[in-house]
Amino acid sequence: MLDDIYKLIEKFEVIVLARHVGPDPDAMASTMALKDSILYTFKDKKVYNVGSGSSRFTYFGKLDRIENPKNALLIVLDTPDIRRIDGITLTDYEKIVKIDHHPFVEKFADIEYINDKSSSASELVLDLINETPLKMNEDIASKIYLGIVSDTNRFMFNNSTGDTFKKVAKLIDEYKLEIDKLYIPLYLRPINEVRLEGYIGLNLNITKNGVGYIKLTKDLLEQFAVDAASPGNMVNNFNYINEVLVWVFFTEDVKNENIRVSARSRGPVINSLLSKYNGGGHKYASGARIKTMDDTDPIIDDLDFLCKKYKEEVGENFEN
Ligand code: AMP
Repeated sequence: MLDDIYKLIEKFEVIVLARHVGPDPDAMASTMALKDSILYTFKDKKVYNVGSGSSRFTYFGKLDRIENPKNALLIVLDTPDIRRIDGITLTDYEKIVKIDHHPFVEKFADIEYINDKSSSASELVLDLINETPLKMNEDIASKIYLGIVSDTNRFMFNNSTGDTFKKVAKLIDEYKLEIDKLYIPLYLRPINEVRLEGYIGLNLNITKNGVGYIKLTKDLLEQFAVDAASPGNMVNNFNYINEVLVWVFFTEDVKNENIRVSARSRGPVINSLLSKYNGGGHKYASGARIKTMDDTDPIIDDLDFLCKKYKEEVGENFEN
């Protein structure tokens, strides 16, 4: 299948790369790395990377604007369903490819390359480059490395396999990656976010069965001078708390007039529950968008019940 994707890349002169709304480092890294690799291999192609920008990720490269592409190939990365694709009308394209590591949601592409065991969309791009004549250089390798590091939470999630480590080791050796320098733009953050993280630690509510949750209103975000994307950047840091099995942040997003739900688990599978609430994602890292803070309590209750069932099933093996 990687060969078929390569053949399409080879055939089309205009290629558009898209990813999910509310991009994270893996979405940015995978699309940018693929764009760079295509241009490095085929100097004369026109390759555009679309979607709404985020000042946080400018170090990955510039986004492009494109209108009514003619005879173009669309490659959608890191996105399992149409409603989550950022800024694209599928009908504008002659051929569509999906490259994704989320559990399958719906088919929308001519070629769907999905591996939900893969650590990240960036690792899938690395596979594509490794298995086809697409070329790599240090800059592309750095982007792929950061995408993998970010989506595995520094190799702490169980989506990091022996294979992931082998591939990453090869990248570091071959392209002499200075990983300490690469981490700076990925992990540097304003003191206001650190202060907000402190606030969340002090104020996290914990239900009877181990759901940690916090509701972050617009006023609170203003008080800390952070935006609605900030809490999502720190949700992974609340792992490994004795009393917390599943944790969820509810953040008021005034710009999009909704509440961002960001949930993580170190036990129960949460993505199918979140898909009931206009969301989805990975088994242990899921998100959703809901209308108001009034809609949060049913999610907390459902997650609490899920934790209760999980503890009953796992029984004495449950460690906290
Ligand atoms: P986040 O908590 O925003 O980092 O998201 C965690 C995971 O859930 C990512 O894989 C997202 O793609 C997915 N996700 C987040 N929000 C939604 C949503 N509204 N619908 C479906 N999946 C989502």
